[in-house]
Amino acid sequence: MITFTHANCTPRPATAGTRRGFALARFAAGLALALGTAFGGASAAMAASATIPVVAAENFYGDVVKQIGGNYVDVTSVLSNPDQDPHLFEASPKTARALQNARVVVYNGADYDPWMTKLLGATGGGKSANNRTTIVAADLVGKKAGDNPHLWYDPKTMPAVARAVSAALGAADPAHKSVYDANLATFLASLQPVDAKVAALRARYQGQPVTATEPVFGYMSDAIGLDMRNLRFQLATMNDTEASASDIAAFERDLRERRVRVLIYNSQATEALTRRMLALAKQSKVPSVSVTETQPAGVNFQQWMLAQLDSLDKALAVGTPGQH
Ligand SMILES: [Zn+2]
Repeated sequence: MITFTHANCTPRPATAGTRRGFALARFAAGLALALGTAFGGASAAMAASATIPVVAAENFYGDVVKQIGGNYVDVTSVLSNPDQDPHLFEASPKTARALQNARVVVYNGADYDPWMTKLLGATGGGKSANNRTTIVAADLVGKKAGDNPHLWYDPKTMPAVARAVSAALGAADPAHKSVYDANLATFLASLQPVDAKVAALRARYQGQPVTATEPVFGYMSDAIGLDMRNLRFQLATMNDTEASASDIAAFERDLRERRVRVLIYNSQATEALTRRMLALAKQSKVPSVSVTETQPAGVNFQQWMLAQLDSLDKALAVGTPGQH
């Protein structure tokens, strides 16, 4: 079993890294051979009337592409399964195939989806590489490997990604550039309620101590100005490594003694230890808020963010008696 966790601060065990690197290199080599024959005439096939094939590594970026591209894009989102921990994702030949024809590719970067970099390297030799625009969210907001990779929870990220997507679609399909421009303006305006909610929460709860099982909500927490505790524990969850005994004890003490107002629970990156913390929060009457890595079905990005912020608002209101 080969896993693709992003090792953030904690180095991966050497054996795991070696196994992963070896398997991927072999896969990439096979793919490059396969693509050598597949690319003939691919660039000419992009007729003016065809939709623009787009691959998004994560479904929240795919959603933004859809909102801006409308009927003129055909989007494949790789990470979209709400029951799967994206940190444990394994790239498949299916992903590689989708990338073969993509004109626009969007991925997170900052080591969240290292399999994308590898796959794009493998397909980069084909003719379509010249026509393909690759948008890396991390590059747009100045983040790199080692930073908290959950960039889509930073209110600054999606406007930057949306602008880049609109520009890429306009370049790939100049005939509909005005549509993409208009949809970009609509999208940016639709983020205003999210920004307003962040500002309202900041006004009310800045400096309040909270904790989380995994760092997915970190940038949003920073934007609100919350005092996020137990970061080392969260990194261990993310990297699928063992939290230290003292970090576990500190987390438990925060819950048991109600030193935090809220537990932010990543329901998509769970294990026995995080479930134990959730149970302890309940037992200690510390409100918990469930958040996810990928976008749930049936809502768009803005609705997803707003719903989570509303839940947080309610939990903080319960957790801070006297403020409501
Ligand atoms: Zn995560």
